Amino acid sequence: MQCRACKSNLIPFLSLGEMPLANAFRKEGDTSIEKKYDLSVGFCPICFLVQLLFAPFPEELFLDYVYTPSVSSSTTLHFKKTAHALIARFNLGREHILLEVGSNDGTFLKFFKECGIGILGVDPAKNIAEAANRQGLTTLPEFFSQKLAKKLVQEKGVKANLVFGANVLAHVPEIVDFVQGVKTILAPSGTAVFEFPYVRGLMENKFDTIYHEHIFYYSLLALQNLFTRADLEVYDIEMVPTQGGSLRIFVSHTGAFPITNAVETLAAKEQADGFTEEATYQKIGRNVELLKEELRILLQNIKKEGKRIAGYSAPAKGNILLNYFGIGKEFLEFLVDKSELKQGLLTPGTNFYVYPLTKIYEEKPDYLLVLCWNIADEVVELLDDYKKAGGKFIIPIPEIRII
Ligand SMILES: [Zn+2]
Repeated sequence: MQCRACKSNLIPFLSLGEMPLANAFRKEGDTSIEKKYDLSVGFCPICFLVQLLFAPFPEELFLDYVYTPSVSSSTTLHFKKTAHALIARFNLGREHILLEVGSNDGTFLKFFKECGIGILGVDPAKNIAEAANRQGLTTLPEFFSQKLAKKLVQEKGVKANLVFGANVLAHVPEIVDFVQGVKTILAPSGTAVFEFPYVRGLMENKFDTIYHEHIFYYSLLALQNLFTRADLEVYDIEMVPTQGGSLRIFVSHTGAFPITNAVETLAAKEQADGFTEEATYQKIGRNVELLKEELRILLQNIKKEGKRIAGYSAPAKGNILLNYFGIGKEFLEFLVDKSELKQGLLTPGTNFYVYPLTKIYEEKPDYLLVLCWNIADEVVELLDDYKKAGGKFIIPIPEIRII
């Protein structure tokens, strides 16, 4: 398998085997065969880009995407803060244009529109793009590409002062074409800002962020290689606490802005931590196997004591963990999730019926395995009554904890 960025041969370091799509919940009584695809990750020894060896076609993943950020209040708040920070930093006003790639339902665009800034969203999920357009948040139902960028520049005669993409950089298989598109559409003194999960998470056992939608797991060093080839430059970088550790990068035309210390410091740290070496990645695979064994033994011992365990929440990452660790109905009696969109459906691969949270108080399990470990504190606070009644929480990642 070849690197999607530089065509060198990839070195596989972790294989989760055949897995269902992590968000493909099923209806009860669905008798169709569940589709599964190989889920393996490799490292490029030349440009350092970590990526899936095989990815299903994007059409299969994104054309009818159900996730809309405005559903979650913490995500909306994150977008609002980000929008206002960017408007202030770049002094954006009526004469400027924001292009958002992967704009979903327009939650982020809205904050810019409110300030009178020109907006354009691009999102391939037709149903979601339509919903955004109905609210006056102009959104093209397309995949962003070099071809689309050229067309937009030609038709509109202007370029974007700010290009923004949250989580999109990890999702696009044709990444070289995508980056060339950014080069085409970015105004001479404009900035492109992207947010995505940081590859360091894999080294901290957060392997459950690996799913078919996430094709790439970026280090700064890999990004520098990727953008340099399109005559672009990463000139600033920030850490974002969402999703258990993300990076936010600021990209410009080469030489447009001075490179910050933050970029130089992080690049040096990645070098020192072995981000350019195969052995660092092979270690991830071994650590995940150790975690799997440790968690399975813990759950087995709890069962032997005659205690009862249930699953808390069914995020994409939780479905990956349950499937790969082989945690099924012999361990978990049932599973609950706050989201009404998921309640009443069956989890991909493991077939747990998703109950509302009230089930916890009816059944009173001794332990809850918290699959949304990135917001474990929030969960413990939310289920204070369960805890006061003697209930315990198992947090599986980054290391196993019992609260
Ligand atoms: Zn490469």
